[in-house]
Amino acid sequence: EGRNLVKRFGGGGFLARRPAVHALNDVSLKVQRGEVFAVVGESGCGKSTLGRVLLDLISPTSGEVRFEGRSISGAKGADALKLRRELQIVFQDPFASINPRMSAGEVVGEPIWLHGLRPASERRERVAELFRTVGLRPAMMDRFPHEFSGGQRQRIGIARALACEPTLLLGDEPVSALDVSIQAQIVNLLEELKERLGLTLVVVAHDLAVIRHMSDRVAVMYLGEIVEEAPTEPLFDQPLHPYTMALMEAIPQPSPLLKRERHLLEGDVPNPVQPPSGCKFHTRCPHAKPRCSAERPALETADASGRRVACHFWREIQAAGTSASLPLP
Ligand code: SF4
Ligand code: MG
Repeated sequence: EGRNLVKRFGGGGFLARRPAVHALNDVSLKVQRGEVFAVVGESGCGKSTLGRVLLDLISPTSGEVRFEGRSISGAKGADALKLRRELQIVFQDPFASINPRMSAGEVVGEPIWLHGLRPASERRERVAELFRTVGLRPAMMDRFPHEFSGGQRQRIGIARALACEPTLLLGDEPVSALDVSIQAQIVNLLEELKERLGLTLVVVAHDLAVIRHMSDRVAVMYLGEIVEEAPTEPLFDQPLHPYTMALMEAIPQPSPLLKRERHLLEGDVPNPVQPPSGCKFHTRCPHAKPRCSAERPALETADASGRRVACHFWREIQAAGTSASLPLP
């Protein structure tokens, strides 16, 4: 659970006169135990930052993160270590930050050693078990990262994340570096592990097809703010926020016969250093009115499912959309 999270990067300092970037602006959300919660948006929208703040890998500028009812922002000592074990991350490329001279087994086993989780005599067997858990042969543990394919490397990254027996796994674009045929295998593996190990998954991604397939709930971010949050099916069936609608329309349609008229997003994402006033989407929104640049819309509850949307005119836009699709008399 994140409450009123704000994250600014840069600004201040005696060397850099860089202006501060508001990576997160007053973001609140609650992930339920055992669900797959997705955060989606274009690059630079703050979704990766949100993931890292939720896991306490970076500290929020203000606001608070709570895990199972307790604040993690101020956790210290043994508490902080336990939290670090419980909350694990799978990166887009798990080896980007890892010493290439470590064998795959060392990569997976390192957290066990760091946290002193098993006696030394049991560690190799535990690593073998983790290899099997992610569908790799334990005999592969003495090979080096460059000997593995992309899909295998991601399996190793997942095994490493599981080494600490976490309760929550965050995937930051966990399949976006992989071929489409391999993506499905990794998505299926994550889903299977979630069921088998009772994990909570948070998936940060820009690929809506992946998110639709695997998530229970979705938060849509734009320029550091959540603009809409909803259970997955209602979100895809009937997006309420104009930005969500634009994202959906940008999904490639499987057949040219199904092609609808597209209203692709026009214009670039504005500079996050000087975000637009009021509703930050107003520079690209086809429904923008004067009020939109003057007043920031609140993230209001839209229905009994707990769905939330931040748009002054979402009701009017829905009503107009519905009447326009009625058959003519
Ligand atoms: Fe568009 Fe205005 Fe709604 Fe923002 S508040 S999404 S600009 S209609
Ligand atoms: Mg990112």
